[in-house]
Amino acid sequence: MTTAGHYIGGIWRDDGPPVAESTNPADGSVVGRYVPGSRALADEAAGVARAAFDAGAWSMSPRLRAQALYEIADRLEAAKNEIADLVVAENGKLRAEALGETMGAISEARYYAGLARAIRGTMQEIAPGQMSLFQREPAGVAGIIVPWNAPVTLLLRSLGPALAAGCTAVIKPAAQTPLVHARIMQCLADCPSLPPGVVNSVNESGTEVGEAMVASADVDVISFTGSSRTGKKIMAGAAQTLKRVGLELGGKAPAVIFADADLDKAVKELTHGSLNMAGQICVAAARFLVHDSVARDFEARMVAAYRAVRVGPGADPQSQMGSLIDMASQRRLMGLIEQAGDEGELVLRGGPLGAGAFLTPTLFRIDDVQSPLVQEELFGPIVSLETFADEAEAVARANATAYGLAASVFTSDVSRAMRVSRAIRAGTVWINSHLRLFAEAETGGYGQSGLGRLHGIEGLNDFLETKHVFLEPGVIQ
Ligand code: NAD
Repeated sequence: MTTAGHYIGGIWRDDGPPVAESTNPADGSVVGRYVPGSRALADEAAGVARAAFDAGAWSMSPRLRAQALYEIADRLEAAKNEIADLVVAENGKLRAEALGETMGAISEARYYAGLARAIRGTMQEIAPGQMSLFQREPAGVAGIIVPWNAPVTLLLRSLGPALAAGCTAVIKPAAQTPLVHARIMQCLADCPSLPPGVVNSVNESGTEVGEAMVASADVDVISFTGSSRTGKKIMAGAAQTLKRVGLELGGKAPAVIFADADLDKAVKELTHGSLNMAGQICVAAARFLVHDSVARDFEARMVAAYRAVRVGPGADPQSQMGSLIDMASQRRLMGLIEQAGDEGELVLRGGPLGAGAFLTPTLFRIDDVQSPLVQEELFGPIVSLETFADEAEAVARANATAYGLAASVFTSDVSRAMRVSRAIRAGTVWINSHLRLFAEAETGGYGQSGLGRLHGIEGLNDFLETKHVFLEPGVIQ
């Protein structure tokens, strides 16, 4: 059985006994074991990343960085089926979703490989003969903390721009997905252009390693993807060293369905948009806001679509929705279904299926936007349905939570589509679609959904500093 170790300075380490197990949420079987890390290991990895950065060869060689990122993409591609199988085994998502996120990660690596060679500063003549240069320099050591729900894409989404910018890195994977992470790290270890010490990784089962990275004076920037609750702790922890934080946090995406929407298209998009990864994705459609006049029709179609979804093991090609991450999530979500029945009206009651961490979809009506069921991220296949009378109410409801990660608008009126997408305070708004993510397109949150942007050219910003160099005229010959 495989045991995932730490990867520090180009060497696999298994300091300490392999005490922690990684289990398959679909059947409870043990996938493998991993070695949990410690504060000391996190500090050691940060020191190694610091030394690799300070040595300068990496941070000053954009062509080397581009080459290394292309090699990473090639190694990931060569291992894509093995990686996807591990994602299914540890995370429970569908095989197609697992392969999709692996391909997404490869796309990130190639995109940032190209950008590595396109990082430029600017120059300005402040007054006659007075030249200011504005250089873009790597920020230093990046601490990258990733969650379990998309362990391949979300890692490369931060690591790609960090490496392109010239940073070195320490990574902390989620406790639920150590084996898939170790397989990715092996891909990196096999890249001849990636110098030892540039990328380091320390596992853990609790919060000690992550906290040590946030506290470390050797780490200059934290790129965190996870819940808003943890994001707040990270921001508070980072205050001690005043390090920079990029936070990609939780969401509660509303999907607004107007009376003139193509309902067939809306139902198709939103079945996928709400149940992808069993609803365990930050940008999942979590609230359906529907115009009064089409609410009953939309609801009936959604219920039919949800009932038709085959829930089952991610490894089974017949399955259309995989398992939750663990049995504890199933219990938590069962409690929320009860609450939805008390505070709202259950239109379709989901429930467990078989012995694994499966849960069939739930749809419930609710009117009170202040209910925690509307305000909080539920992170599972449970969606609320609210109605609105006019556009102003639709926008007010869409903006009624503390989150602002993503939203979608369904209408055949292009003016309304543009007006409403402008009025919704969210980092991404999809029109007549839901859940379209690209390496090229910036993503990030308003409000409590986060700080900064990943993906796209702006994804580099977290990992770059701007330096002003002024040339006093007439002194240098
Ligand atoms: P989480 O916040 O519990 O954990 C995320 C990571 O942070 C894990 O690696 C965890 O071990 C680590 N961590 C936990 N406590 C820490 C601490 N005190 N200091 C440092 N690190 C710590 O989130 P999760 O349950 O793993 O993931 C689900 C959450 O992630 C959801 O809220 C989801 O919306 C969010 N998410 C956001 C995005 C995005 O792009 N905005 C993408 C995916 C997931």
